[in-house]
Amino acid sequence: LQQSDLLVARILREIHELSQIGGHADGSVTRLAYTQADTEARMWLVNRMEEAGLRTEVDAVGNVFGWPPNSSTDPPILLGSHVDTVPGGGMYDGTLGVVSALEIVRSLADRENRVPPVGVVSFACEEGSRFGMSSIGSRAVTGQLVPGDLERLKDRDGITLRQALQSAGLSPKEVHKLQRAPGWFRAYLEGHIDQGPELEETGCPVGVVKAIAGVSRYLLTFHGAQAHAGAARMGQRRDAMAAAAEAILIIEHEATSAAEDVVATVGVAEIVPGIINVLPAEVRLGLEVRALPTAGAVNFDSRVRERIQDRTAHRQITVQWDTLSAGEPARISDVVRKTLLVACTESGVPAREIVSWPNHDALFLATHGPSGMILVRNRGKVSHHRDESVRPEDLQILLEVLQRAVHHLMTPS
Ligand SMILES: [Zn+2]
Repeated sequence: LQQSDLLVARILREIHELSQIGGHADGSVTRLAYTQADTEARMWLVNRMEEAGLRTEVDAVGNVFGWPPNSSTDPPILLGSHVDTVPGGGMYDGTLGVVSALEIVRSLADRENRVPPVGVVSFACEEGSRFGMSSIGSRAVTGQLVPGDLERLKDRDGITLRQALQSAGLSPKEVHKLQRAPGWFRAYLEGHIDQGPELEETGCPVGVVKAIAGVSRYLLTFHGAQAHAGAARMGQRRDAMAAAAEAILIIEHEATSAAEDVVATVGVAEIVPGIINVLPAEVRLGLEVRALPTAGAVNFDSRVRERIQDRTAHRQITVQWDTLSAGEPARISDVVRKTLLVACTESGVPAREIVSWPNHDALFLATHGPSGMILVRNRGKVSHHRDESVRPEDLQILLEVLQRAVHHLMTPS
């Protein structure tokens, strides 16, 4: 027990050390992808990986890998997460998974007197805060970044992803070569802070992720007829705004009826021309749908689309659907999930399964090999906020469960 206390103390010290890079006086952290602070965090990590005896590699998009040094032909088990943050984020999101991965390698190496066949990774630009697209690093290595993305993706200052990579000393010209063939890792395990209250409120120190919701985003444009708000008779209007309002309620109703397998949100509404005495000619809605790979979510998007088209036709309004991004939900590997559940039981903690509504790199890794996640209870119940908080004893449980899971995966029965 004394030894595991030391390990937890070391992880906590490192999490605090990293929180100083881009840290604010109020305890929050800002390490937006490809900024100076993010680059510094990457260098910090490279140093820690080298101290742990890993062979480091920073790839063209900024992913940091620490590979086991012996050139075995077997693909390694990969552990990790990310070190970039949202503006004013907490110190655990991402960092917790990377630092605990390092600790697993160090403690296995101490125990066995050799660096284990386990790699550590920190994926670049996991947060969507800067470029409106999340998990850029894990998309790049799994072939889910398309060629135009480097120019198409811009931050709020108009800086393209290509320019940001360049200014961080990375190699945008090489990004298209990053795609790997599936099977380059034996299993991917990601530890992460719970981003909501579920584990805290149910009194479970950790939760094994059974599914990660897929995220799809759409732009809906309603075309009506602009007219004078006084002269246009109520029975003769083609009101784009009233049609859009009805659509929002259809979306809400369908999502509420989807057995908790879907959440759908209209977070953007633009009215053209947006004048109080003018009947709107056009309304644009930004719709986000998060869906699990379960029954209630099947055909949700097309169901909503049909109902909206039906209602708008009655109003003689046309509606145009543009897909901004379409994301499939991740089916978590049964092998990894069950291994984590067994490891929980062996560690004497409840083997609770949980759904992750936020996106994670594991969603993309799952297309290339067996991938899974374990979440740690969050005392602050919120994430992307300085109130993120993890109890030391829960950290200890995370370490123990991960260690056992890695051990089982290294020595299949
Ligand atoms: Zn995260």
